[in-house]
Amino acid sequence: MSAATPEAYDVLVIGAGTAGIPTAVHAARAGARVLLVEKDARIGGTLHVTGGHLAAAGTRRQVERGIDDTPADHLADIRRISRGTARDDLVTIVAENAADTVEWLADHGFAFAAETPRIIYGHEPYETARTYYGKDEGLSILAVLSEVLDETAAAHDLTLWLGATVTELLTDDAGSVHGAVVHRRGRDVEVSASSVVLATGGYGADAELFEELEGAPLVSAAARTSTGDGLHLARAIGAAMQGAGTYLPTFGGLPDPRTPGRANWSDRQRLTSERAPYEIYVDRDGRRWVAEDEESIDEKERALARIPDQTFWTVFDDAALSRATGGVEQMVVGKEPDEVRAMMGQRPGLHSADSLEELATLAGIDPAGLAETVARYNDAVAAGHDADLGRTFLPSPIATAPFYAVRNHAITLVTFQGLDIDASFAVRDESGGEIAGLYAVGEVIGAGATCGNSFCSGMLVTPAMTFGRLLGERLGADARVRTATDRTAS
Ligand SMILES: Cc1cc2nc3c(=O)[nH]c(=O)nc-3n(C[C@H](O)[C@H](O)[C@H](O)COP(=O)(O)OP(=O)(O)OC[C@H]3O[C@@H](n4cnc5c(N)ncnc54)[C@H](O)[C@@H]3O)c2cc1C
Repeated sequence: MSAATPEAYDVLVIGAGTAGIPTAVHAARAGARVLLVEKDARIGGTLHVTGGHLAAAGTRRQVERGIDDTPADHLADIRRISRGTARDDLVTIVAENAADTVEWLADHGFAFAAETPRIIYGHEPYETARTYYGKDEGLSILAVLSEVLDETAAAHDLTLWLGATVTELLTDDAGSVHGAVVHRRGRDVEVSASSVVLATGGYGADAELFEELEGAPLVSAAARTSTGDGLHLARAIGAAMQGAGTYLPTFGGLPDPRTPGRANWSDRQRLTSERAPYEIYVDRDGRRWVAEDEESIDEKERALARIPDQTFWTVFDDAALSRATGGVEQMVVGKEPDEVRAMMGQRPGLHSADSLEELATLAGIDPAGLAETVARYNDAVAAGHDADLGRTFLPSPIATAPFYAVRNHAITLVTFQGLDIDASFAVRDESGGEIAGLYAVGEVIGAGATCGNSFCSGMLVTPAMTFGRLLGERLGADARVRTATDRTAS
């Protein structure tokens, strides 16, 4: 690396989000000359929208609350929930180092939500209270990272470029990565770096890539910056992928009134086992397709992935809506019955009518199918037995007009496939060998790597921050050694 070349660094980190900021900060603090490049006008990436849940065992916060937990128990829980479909080498690293990530946040003033750690039931639950989040969800993490980034840039050799998009990775004849092309201020700049880290996030906002990899329709609530850039960049130089077949949608999200293909995560229906369902779920033919009171949200998500268009309607009557009041009982998160009634006919996919036939027509469900299904369901309620799907919570028939139908989609918050890395976070090529000089951390490695075919609480934010920290520390130490060796040699 020539000192005369201004755009020459030890470490180039692409993406200033959940994984990229820790990577850059730790590398710089360990002694590397670091460039952090972000295509957006602001740092943070998915931290602006994420719940920001982290999972860690053996933290001070757990000890203070008398919670007995170990990394081995955390690892066992991840293996149980993912049914062994995650990358065992990677989740072992997470379980063993997650507590340090949480302590690091705590030491830097992280505003923990008072009730954490707790068990989260929106996903298949852990057996122990080990999920933490901030008062302002992902923004609480961003507040810490932003401050630490500023401090590090002031005291160490760290440069941040905003509004700068990496468009190409530079390789030598042997295929090693030695830099990247960055589009910045209307021109392309070649940056050279001993190590290039892809921390560009997932592809939940790239419908074409999503269709190619998952063969499923994309209804997204992912960050708009999650356009799969890291996958495009690395596949162009022969990187291998991992996580095929692990795709799992998130269960239900209401269509965004403004943008087709997007869903609003903030006003989703409450469809997990936290709330007993008074509604039924039907597909386009009006047929039920899962026991609505199935305890396992993963089982429901897997069933949803199998139905046409991954689209369904919750159907309920006014009596059910009237009782859906107060916190966890609400039909739509944060909305009381009258607020839900007011949404009907005003938002795409939400309908009410005085008859089931009219409701079905408005919603685009087969009217005969819906009438037959509701009649069978009401018979099951009367008999106290659901012979079709084995639902056991059968509180009341669907009988009191008006009737409601709310269209839900399988939605994508995170994407499951990603770049294949080894346990040192080096990107691998199709032959399984390392692509020298290229690393990947965060969702660019795919949720399948750390969650497998499941959603495991905190197992994206925690790996992103933990791998970023570990990789940054190592690349920083390597750079220090290189600098010392160069000095000795000269
Ligand atoms: C609504 C929602 C809720 C979630 N809740 C949780 C949760 O509670 N717990 C959990 O573990 N996970 C959760 N996730 C997932 C988790 O938040 C993400 O997987 C994680 O934050 C991704 O981190 P990342 O660093 O890989 O990507 P990001 O944080 O998105 O950062 C990537 C950055 O790279 C930049 N970038 C991309 N391409 C380029 C380029 N070519 N050049 C320069 N910059 C580029 C982007 O602009 C972005 O700033 C949630 C996700 C969503 C959408």
